[in-house]
Formats: sequence, C-alpha cells, structure tokens
Amino acid sequence: MHNDPITAEVMEISRQLDDAARISIGFPGASDIDYRPLTELLTKPINNIGDPYTGSDVPNNTLKQERQVVELLADLFRAPADDRWGYVTSGGTESNAAALTIARSLYPDAVCYYSDSAHYSLDKIRRQLALPAVRIRSTSRGEIDYDDLRTQLGLRRDRPAIVIATIGTTMTEAVDDVGRITAILDDLAIRDRFVHADAALAGIPLALLDPTDRPGIDFADGADSMCISGHKFLAAPSPCSVVITKASHRARAAQPVGYIGSLDTTIGGSRSGHAPLILWYALNTLRIDGLRARAERTRGLAGHVCDQLRHLGWEAYRQPNAFTVVLRTPPDAVRSRWAMASHRGWSHVIPMPGTPIASINDFLEDMASAIRAGDGQQLALAGSTR
Ligand SMILES: *Cc1c(COP(=O)(O)O)cnc(C)c1O
Repeated sequence: MHNDPITAEVMEISRQLDDAARISIGFPGASDIDYRPLTELLTKPINNIGDPYTGSDVPNNTLKQERQVVELLADLFRAPADDRWGYVTSGGTESNAAALTIARSLYPDAVCYYSDSAHYSLDKIRRQLALPAVRIRSTSRGEIDYDDLRTQLGLRRDRPAIVIATIGTTMTEAVDDVGRITAILDDLAIRDRFVHADAALAGIPLALLDPTDRPGIDFADGADSMCISGHKFLAAPSPCSVVITKASHRARAAQPVGYIGSLDTTIGGSRSGHAPLILWYALNTLRIDGLRARAERTRGLAGHVCDQLRHLGWEAYRQPNAFTVVLRTPPDAVRSRWAMASHRGWSHVIPMPGTPIASINDFLEDMASAIRAGDGQQLALAGSTR
C-alpha cells in the first residue's frame, strides 16, 4: 500500500502545502497551534445541526463546546452576560450574512452603511437580502470617514440604520471606531439601528488590549453583533468563523423546526462539529494570557518588518497595534517570489503567529537586494520619505 499512487499524491500535496506556507507572508492565517491532540476526534462523524443554545436530537454533536466558544468570545467582547447568542459558521462571509439577516429582520426598511474599504462579501450579502446600501468614503489608510457617515445618516434620519464597522480592513487593517459610530447615531437620534462589527482578523488581538488603549470594537462600545474568523488569529486549519449577537436580537428571527428538534437559527443546516472543537481547543489551551502573548510577539515582528523596510528606504506603515505592514508594491522580482495581495500600488505583509522567521528574513533580504540593484520604480519616491 505504501507506494500506491494515492499515497504518493497525498505526500505530494503535503509538500506543496509546506511550500505554500513558506511563501504566504501576505495572507493572515496563523499556523502555530498544534491540533494533533484532536486527531482522534477529527476522524469521527459529528454534525452540529441546529441551534447550539437549544440543542438537537442528533446525538453526535459538539454543541456544548460550540456554546463554550461563543461564551468565551462573548466575555472577551463584553457582551451582556444574560443576553448573548451565537454559533460557529463556515467563515467570515457566513458570519456577516447571519448578522445582517438578523439586523434586517429587526428593521426590514433599514438602510445599510459601510465603507468602501469594508469586506467584499458585504456587497453580495446586502444584495441577497435586498438591503439598500450606502457606501461611505474611507480615508487613504482605510478607516471609515466619520464626517461622510454622519452626512449620509443625516440624509436618512427617518430610516433605520444598519452600520457595519470593519475591525481590521483587508488591505490595511484599519479599524472603524464603534464608539464614534455609536456617538454619531446618538447625535442624530437614530434609535432604530444595528451596528455590526466585522472583526474577522483584528477582533481578538485588539480585545486583548486595555479598552482605553484601543478604538471601540465591541458590545460595550455599542456593537449589536460581531464576528471573528477561526482560520486567521486562531490558526484553525480549515476556514471557520464565529458570529455573536444579543440573544434578544436573535429571538425575533428564530423559526422552530420539528424534524431536528432545534431552532432553525443558523444559515447552514448540517454544520461542522469539528470547527467548534478546534476553536474550543485553541481558546482553552492558550487562554487569555497565551493569546495575548502571541498577539504581542506578532506585533513585535510586524514592527520589525516595518522598521527594516523603512531602513531600506522603502515606504511602509502600520496602523496602531496591527499585524499588517502596508508597503509600496515591491519590484516584480520580489513580488513574483512571495504570495502577497496588491492593490493600487500598495501591498501588504502580514506576519502571523507561526509565520516562519526565515521567510520574513528571506523576504527582507530579497527587498534589500532588489533595492540595491535599483530595481523598482518606487525607489525615488520611497527615498524621498526618509
Ligand atoms: C477575512 C475577512 C472576512 C471573511 O472572510 P471569509 O473568507 O469568508 O472567511 C470578512 N471580513 C474581513 C474584514 C476579513 O478580514
């Protein structure tokens, strides 16, 4: 059996994935958590069909661990202790869809507001939900323009508002301040409102800071729902995400379903029972201190990358507390060797827990050689900013 073609291909895929991990410095997936203690469980069928808070008739479930994941994150995000609900979804897109579905059922004639740096899934979701949307300007570094938000909300004060704050935009990891957004809604006396914080990447790392040292991101700052990705900071090997909202919001959207003995509150029907286990394992083994130490180490590495690029004369910046280092798009010779996203002349490198230091060093070496070779149109421009 050892030399059969399937086994050979499995080994080849494994090698390809190792190679991919070495060059993936521009995508925010952590990879440092050893999930092998769960291997035995990952071979068993599990189905978390239904609502984790009402249980289901399907016995092979991990709904208890799923609830614990929601509760741990609800604590971290300061959701009211007696008014919280959520579930583990298939990814950030489903989490955003779940949050907006609830928001829309609360306010069927709402207008939805989000910045032009928000995640691309929102356009699709709000079209599927037939929600009218107004795109708000964002600053050159990707944060929502609060003046434009105020103006646009002010033009429709008679309509309920669903505002989506991005906690860590895809390109620059900019954070839309939920506290400032809430203050604007208060000022305009818009009481029928729902604020969703799309905190896929930066939600957990920012929540581990003292709330006075970071922008508003969570329930205590005014959010009605939040989501985080499992395959980003928490290093889940397969995409997954968690959506959290207030149980009181959720209650109005629930449809009872007899067949599974649960409430049909989730977008998916049959749902992964392995993903909640993975997140449960990460949160319970690392705990708050371990998560915080990982975030701090990663910020240190990101700061190092940013400093080194500037030393080389290459324009680069970081938002406060971000992992993402935004840099002028590297010369082609460098770009072709590394997997990184680029947009309108800017690229980003995102050190994450588990990003090999050797990869970071090799990338900086590549940049240094390319710059020495005078190989990049940005050179003069970058030089002038020193
Ligand atoms: C990663 C991300 C998402 C979601 O992504 P999926 O690919 O659906 O998991 C949503 N919003 C933001 C801000 C993200 O960074």
